[in-house]
Amino acid sequence: MIDTHAHLTKRLNEKFELPAISRVILAGSTLEDSEENIDLASQFPGTLSAAVGVHPQEIIFDETRLEDLLQNNPGIVAVGECGLDFSHEFNFKEQERKFRAQIELAITYRKPLIIHARKAVDETVVILNEYAKIVGGVFHCYSGGRKRIPKITDLGERWFMGIDGNVTYEEGLAGVVKSIPKDRLVLETDSPLLTPLPYRGEKNKPDWVLYVYRKVAEIWQMSFEETERIIDDNAQRLFQIV
Ligand SMILES: [Zn+2]
Repeated sequence: MIDTHAHLTKRLNEKFELPAISRVILAGSTLEDSEENIDLASQFPGTLSAAVGVHPQEIIFDETRLEDLLQNNPGIVAVGECGLDFSHEFNFKEQERKFRAQIELAITYRKPLIIHARKAVDETVVILNEYAKIVGGVFHCYSGGRKRIPKITDLGERWFMGIDGNVTYEEGLAGVVKSIPKDRLVLETDSPLLTPLPYRGEKNKPDWVLYVYRKVAEIWQMSFEETERIIDDNAQRLFQIV
């Protein structure tokens, strides 16, 4: 099992606990988190892989510092999370500027993007269409519903959708999962958020991606092993990891 999106930094967790699953992708929301991701991944290279990026609602953005991280740490597996977030007050031009800068870094350093698109899937796709043929990535915590799935798959075969623990209790999401092509789905926890059943209410951790895999196996009406093989293969293609 691979948790393709987790936050394990000190800012969000009182103590660090090494996950037991085969791999965890550490998403970056701020420059500090990105640096800490690199540090954590270097301590546990067999289990943790770092992404670096700045969340659309994050004010502090220093492109040079982000580029320095990419230049000096070839083990980084992705740029993100970055994108657009219109869920509360926002400055579109400012978010767009940060987003485009991170897309260009992903292209320069040949990394996939971890996309955060909240109440902004359509606008995000419009921007990505300009670059889609030369970059791949994942719509993390995909929230575009069934009708926008073709927009993502049309970006190209290097584009994926990430589904989280809320699939264990939000009925509508099961329908979304059914509609996502099996070769375009990856699973994630977004730890410490979005805890799946039966632990809903507690602080989430990467090991609980197990419950997301189980739920998808149930939706697909497939064995756990076969589900795991397909999903892990997708994550490995997306992040170029083994
Ligand atoms: Zn996240």
